[in-house]
Amino acid sequence: MSRTHRIAVLAGDGIGPEVMTESLRVLDAVESKFGFTTERSEALVGGAAIDDGGHPLPDATISACEASDGILFGSVGGPKWENLPPDTQPERGALLPLRKHFGLFANLRPGVCLPSLTHASPVKNELIPNGFDVLCVRELTGGVYFGSPKGREERDGETVAFDTMIYKRSEIERILHVAFTAAMGRGKRLVSVDKANVLASSVLWREVATEVAKDYPEVELEHLYVDNAAMQLCRRPDSFDVLVTENLFGDILSDEMAMISGSLGMLPSASLGSKKEGSDLYFGMYEPSGGSAPDIAGQGIANPIAQILSVAMLLRFSLGEADAAQAIEDAVAKAIDDGYRTGDIATGAASEKKVGTKEMADAILANL
Ligand code: NAD
Repeated sequence: MSRTHRIAVLAGDGIGPEVMTESLRVLDAVESKFGFTTERSEALVGGAAIDDGGHPLPDATISACEASDGILFGSVGGPKWENLPPDTQPERGALLPLRKHFGLFANLRPGVCLPSLTHASPVKNELIPNGFDVLCVRELTGGVYFGSPKGREERDGETVAFDTMIYKRSEIERILHVAFTAAMGRGKRLVSVDKANVLASSVLWREVATEVAKDYPEVELEHLYVDNAAMQLCRRPDSFDVLVTENLFGDILSDEMAMISGSLGMLPSASLGSKKEGSDLYFGMYEPSGGSAPDIAGQGIANPIAQILSVAMLLRFSLGEADAAQAIEDAVAKAIDDGYRTGDIATGAASEKKVGTKEMADAILANL
């Protein structure tokens, strides 16, 4: 029986529509190869939605997402909308409300440096002869970004400002389960990152991580303080498999990982909400780790791989099409091994085939 999935497609601004077009061609190819179909509902978001109707996240877009099994997102923002009031700007007015509306509490960001792209990483190449492949799992809806009280007031004749880093046991448990499950599907090693030598919320985090580990006896759990984790990531990134941490630490470490990976154009991400009833699949939103890259938009030179790998994550975590996901990841790796390079990952070496957005997707499609 043929399988049908519903997805919302939100291309957004800048390079978003360009790379989205290519990723949907790749999705078409795996659909016919693996015998399933997707019903796609395209909707406006970000600056494109502001230009159309004055709001970065129209109700029709939310409805399209609600009716879907998962959201494929491009990127939003650009200079044209930079001077709008903060809450009506594309990122703040669309991305954050989408995360909130769908309770997307787990952010998964792979930091992958393929062996043939180590030259693009700022890490000394002798430290990463075979590249690396780390998955960062960041808690996305709790911690100091959302804790209360937060504010600013006068105390003893001086202005003070304060935030609250707070976590509930249940919030820590559910993100740890996501991370352990991800580790089970990979190298079965998990590093939990905290600051338990200083922060009360981290002491609870570490306790809960140790308890949840009992449900996953095959996974080797290690605890690292965040300052040490930041150092080890740039000294020995190839020793990590999965890393899990709270919101603020994850914000910083996942960007460090993007940096050491070499190019934003290669990195997808997933933001997962709750599991669908009676299944191991999550509702989620999938998007490149980078932004709308206005500096190269409209030129046909953006790297489509982050968007294409976002499709792979959508297939794996929300649609239950793991074979198709793996086929896409293998096809991307082969295109890179065959020497295809967009500008962001090119070195100018004679062996490289310098290509634009569409040609890179063609090279990937040829491997499917
Ligand atoms: P950016 O990620 O858009 O670009 C940073 C650099 O990386 C640029 O030089 C860009 O050309 C390059 N780059 C990014 N993706 C690439 C790709 N696929 N191929 C080749 N090169 C790529 O970050 P920025 O310049 O700080 O932000 C630009 C706009 O994007 C801003 O309006 C920002 O608010 C928005 N933004 C959106 C998101 C999102 O939609 N999730 C995330 C970050 C930034």
